[in-house]
Amino acid sequence: MIGVLALQGNFQSHLNILEKINLESLLVKKSEDLNRVSGLIIPGGESTTMSKLLVNSNLDKKVKEFSKKNPILGTCAGAIIMSKNSSDKRVLNLGLLDMDIDRNAYGRQVFSFSDQIKIIDGENKSNCEVLFIRAPKIINVGNNCDVFAFRNDEVVGVKQGKHFAITCHPELMGNTKIHEMCFKKNR
Ligand code: GLN
Repeated sequence: MIGVLALQGNFQSHLNILEKINLESLLVKKSEDLNRVSGLIIPGGESTTMSKLLVNSNLDKKVKEFSKKNPILGTCAGAIIMSKNSSDKRVLNLGLLDMDIDRNAYGRQVFSFSDQIKIIDGENKSNCEVLFIRAPKIINVGNNCDVFAFRNDEVVGVKQGKHFAITCHPELMGNTKIHEMCFKKNR
């Protein structure tokens, strides 16, 4: 069963994707919920608000502990929270991915857009249409991270160990590829 962090933001669409790939899901709202799942999605939303709620519910420490054994996928705000550094003191950086990320790097909500990205899954490459909504930009990828998604030459998805993060929203376009890579092939 895969947990979807449901403190704030756009968690519903991840439930639909998990259903599409036949994985059971559970909304994670408190730390005990994490005992019941073997993977976690940190969805898009507002990383500052989500950070506050994670700390207030003590889920921050529990997620960190959970990450030692189980895969975590972060989209957009989720990727910001998983990063090592997002240069905003209000944001909790779990440091699950050796990368620096810059919030709201494409500008305000009106500058949100859809685009094609390229996903690399081992030997296979595929294109997928995604949404960038007040998206962050990955500005530095450390040696411990591998890149698995590009928008032209720009890095938009990185993985480290079991964990995956992407700056856009594949789930809002119904794309299941990254969820499969993280929770089905990643065992
Ligand atoms: N701009 C948001 C933030 O900085 C992220 C937006 C999103 O998750 N779609 O947290």
